[in-house]
Amino acid sequence: MNHTRVYQENIRDLINRPGEMRERERTLEVPDQLGEALARIPAGEQLDLAVRLESVHEGILVSATARTTMHAECGRCLTQFTEPFEVDFQELFAYTPSEADEYEVHGDHVDLEPPLRDAVVLALPFQPVCRPDCPGLDPESGELREAGAAAVSSVDVDPRWAMLANFVADPDRGEGEQPAPDSK
Ligand SMILES: [Zn+2]
Repeated sequence: MNHTRVYQENIRDLINRPGEMRERERTLEVPDQLGEALARIPAGEQLDLAVRLESVHEGILVSATARTTMHAECGRCLTQFTEPFEVDFQELFAYTPSEADEYEVHGDHVDLEPPLRDAVVLALPFQPVCRPDCPGLDPESGELREAGAAAVSSVDVDPRWAMLANFVADPDRGEGEQPAPDSK
């Protein structure tokens, strides 16, 4: 199994010593991308990992907080953006797992990669947006809507300005009887 060691925690001094506890913090480089959809943590991104390891009778109880940067594509306007991302998880790593889905102490270490990956993937937004009021793309033109343009249409427009707006919006107006430049 080709698994990475960067998420491993040495627990040699905690084995079979219930009540003992260690807290550690470190910064690592994400070796393999986390997440597959519009939002993900790409390989190479820095991840701050704060871990609390508690020795209990059944094994090692791990509480962890991961802080990193999410890279995403806005589900409305398709803009690429990044934003801070944080997730917590807590898992028991058992000496002798009683269930198939339980995590296990491997020799003198626990491997945080599987629970961390699960927690991150669950917490990543399924439909990320670059900002809460992102106006998205115009359904007709496919162009990015201007937030300002969307706002103007929702306010009362002075009728005189409305007439002018119609005039400007109609480029042929007033030129109907004039010959086109190329018809001599
Ligand atoms: Zn957007």
